[in-house]
Amino acid sequence: MNILVCIKQVPDTTEIKIDPVTNTLIRSGVPSIVNPYDAYALEAAVRLKEEHGGCITVLSMGPEQAGAALRNCLAVGADKAFLLSDRAFSGSDTLATSFILSESVRYLESKIGIFSLILCGRQAIDGDTAQVGPEMAEHLERSQLTCAFDLSLEHGGVVAKRENEDGYDRIFCDLPAVVTVIRISGEVRLPSVRSRMAANKAVIETISAESLRIDTLRCGLKGSPTRVKKTFTPVRTKTGVIIHGTNAETAAKKLAVFLDSEKLI
Ligand SMILES: Cc1cc2nc3c(=O)[nH]c(=O)nc-3n(C[C@H](O)[C@H](O)[C@H](O)COP(=O)(O)OP(=O)(O)OC[C@H]3O[C@@H](n4cnc5c(N)ncnc54)[C@H](O)[C@@H]3O)c2cc1C
Repeated sequence: MNILVCIKQVPDTTEIKIDPVTNTLIRSGVPSIVNPYDAYALEAAVRLKEEHGGCITVLSMGPEQAGAALRNCLAVGADKAFLLSDRAFSGSDTLATSFILSESVRYLESKIGIFSLILCGRQAIDGDTAQVGPEMAEHLERSQLTCAFDLSLEHGGVVAKRENEDGYDRIFCDLPAVVTVIRISGEVRLPSVRSRMAANKAVIETISAESLRIDTLRCGLKGSPTRVKKTFTPVRTKTGVIIHGTNAETAAKKLAVFLDSEKLI
């Protein structure tokens, strides 16, 4: 089975800082990692490969440095890696990103065969929109399953769990499909020294806009209808109230009086 995992290199923090002047993300001084949900997607792919055989390709769109994230993926079980990097791609919003990734899927499939499964993380921890996976499914006109974990191959399709309020559903989806992945059960494997050394020597092919023969009007800023009008950090106007009491009972009584005075109960 041919599996593609889309991975994004993200800052190693959930506290994204925005440049107030340019409205862009401040990336300097923050180490980069493979987006954690993408690491789960890759682990899910490696487990499927261990059980059923096949080939895992990882694909990332980003600057040259994103090659390091791809090498991490090669070190934990991916077989091939491709980096989409071109000035024409910079400034892409989710629509342009998913379009470029989908065109790359077509490009890669013409060379290495159809991807029965395309796995994405549920969301990137920097952009946080969770739109790219579902948009790719739309561009490619493939079935989609979102927020999935613990994937298995059954009856010619993919079965995955998806959380609900009472536990989880088991959902079947025809192949080929695009699946977005949340935290899976068990640990994500770590690279060995040997696999890391092999990954460091691997050749990562860079794919340009020209090699995709893509419509560049649909890429980068030109292809991005999202406009960031303003970004700001909300100002805290209220601080918390600590209710003291000699024991839990007196504290609870004081809390009830306070909530009543604030007309909250
Ligand atoms: C308001 C706003 C402002 C932004 N400002 C900036 C900015 O200043 N600078 C900047 O660089 N970006 C910026 N972005 C982010 C940029 O739009 C996103 O990087 C891109 O569109 C992907 O969206 P996302 O990060 O929300 O991905 P999500 O939809 O949350 O990602 C879901 C999954 O899609 C896949 N995926 C997503 N992106 C990639 C990728 N590049 N390569 C491979 N797989 C991928 C991964 O599997 C990921 O887990 C901004 C986004 C928004 C909404």
